[in-house]
Amino acid sequence: MHQSVEKTEQANAIREGVRALCKGFDEDYWLKLDRNSQYPTEFVQELTQSGYLSALIPEEYGGAGLGIYEAAAILEEISHSGGHPGACHAQMYVMGAVLRHGTEEQKQQYLPKIASGELRLQSFGITEPSTGTDTTNLKTTATRDGDRYLINGQKVWISRVEHSDLMVILARTTSRGKCKKKTDGMSAFIVDLPDVIGNGLTVQPIDAMINHHACELFFDNVSVPAENLLGQEGKGFRVVLDGMNAERILIAAECVGDGKYFIDKACAYAREREVFGRPIGQNQGVQFPLARSFAEIEAASLMVEKAANLFDAGQPCGAEANMAKMLASEASWRAGDACMQTHGGFAFAKEYHIERKFRETRLYQIAPISTNLILSYISEHVLDLPRSF
Ligand SMILES: Cc1cc2nc3c(=O)[nH]c(=O)nc-3n(C[C@H](O)[C@H](O)[C@H](O)COP(=O)(O)OP(=O)(O)OC[C@H]3O[C@@H](n4cnc5c(N)ncnc54)[C@H](O)[C@@H]3O)c2cc1C
Repeated sequence: MHQSVEKTEQANAIREGVRALCKGFDEDYWLKLDRNSQYPTEFVQELTQSGYLSALIPEEYGGAGLGIYEAAAILEEISHSGGHPGACHAQMYVMGAVLRHGTEEQKQQYLPKIASGELRLQSFGITEPSTGTDTTNLKTTATRDGDRYLINGQKVWISRVEHSDLMVILARTTSRGKCKKKTDGMSAFIVDLPDVIGNGLTVQPIDAMINHHACELFFDNVSVPAENLLGQEGKGFRVVLDGMNAERILIAAECVGDGKYFIDKACAYAREREVFGRPIGQNQGVQFPLARSFAEIEAASLMVEKAANLFDAGQPCGAEANMAKMLASEASWRAGDACMQTHGGFAFAKEYHIERKFRETRLYQIAPISTNLILSYISEHVLDLPRSF
């Protein structure tokens, strides 16, 4: 499935606009933030004001009404420029839970403000210390208490909580033992963060390998109005599952951008750096890993495009979204490795920027879903092999 010429031209225009915006935020900008564990506030503000972060919000709610194909182009360009879209990508897709499962009242209440940037919905709380990938085993509970729910439990690795006004979280409203299906009994809630931080919710930043602003969260009778339930009680797994394809496609696009960044950097260096009286790029031992990476990134990019087109056409795309994320994250990692090798010792100097991107792109073989789990999905759902867990 391919997109029309018109759609390609529109995406190209968007790419040009994003590239121009990113020129104002060079690699030194990102290096400084990385060094000081700071958030790219100015960059996110400009991205919001230019309408890029509201790409997926329909026009009737104040967004640009674009598809995943265009949203993927935006994130790819940010990565390709040397930036770190992981700092704000969730603002694009977490709102999908509100759009697809929210009541009309919730959509009116939140979406226009998310589109304008007045409200930041940047956080998505699923992972817990003792139940990572095994989501249906999560321990955080939400108990109905009159016209409110009381949330208790713990989450870990929840990104951007300190830079978000709202968070969508998943909690158990019925214990797993009492449900027919293990995916039942969980519910999604919109949590108004300023209301609850310090009022039941404790936020503890995690000192991590990359500047991703991830936190550990402790819920102690966090009180949320019942009207903040997203979708039906007990059917929250579906609410979060629906957003996962979008997340995977967009993160795959970021990896494609990372891969292009690494290859551009490495080739530029290989053309200039002279050892033994000739450019290192003249040696096939230096050329071939870059050529291989280029081919892998191009292939992954086609899978991102296929998944995005299916998603935008409203067709099933679980397999393609997963494959795109797996192929792109592995290809970007190998491109990063080739770029490091090409730069020799200088790859380790922070001022060359490569090691930061190298750390950042490594995340995506683990989060938001690890490669093994994707392979397991393909085995079971595409190849019809017996379920392993
Ligand atoms: C920087 C960062 C930001 C994050 N942001 C968020 C966020 O905003 N919101 C959120 O909810 N989560 C977030 N996460 C969490 C992330 O989604 C999880 O770390 C990820 O899903 C893996 O879960 P886990 O760490 O518990 O690994 P585990 O589930 O403990 O798995 C560990 C390893 O074992 C493998 N494994 C487990 N079971 C099997 C099996 N049956 N077969 C084969 N292999 C298996 C996995 O593939 C993995 O490699 C973030 C993580 C990081 C590091």
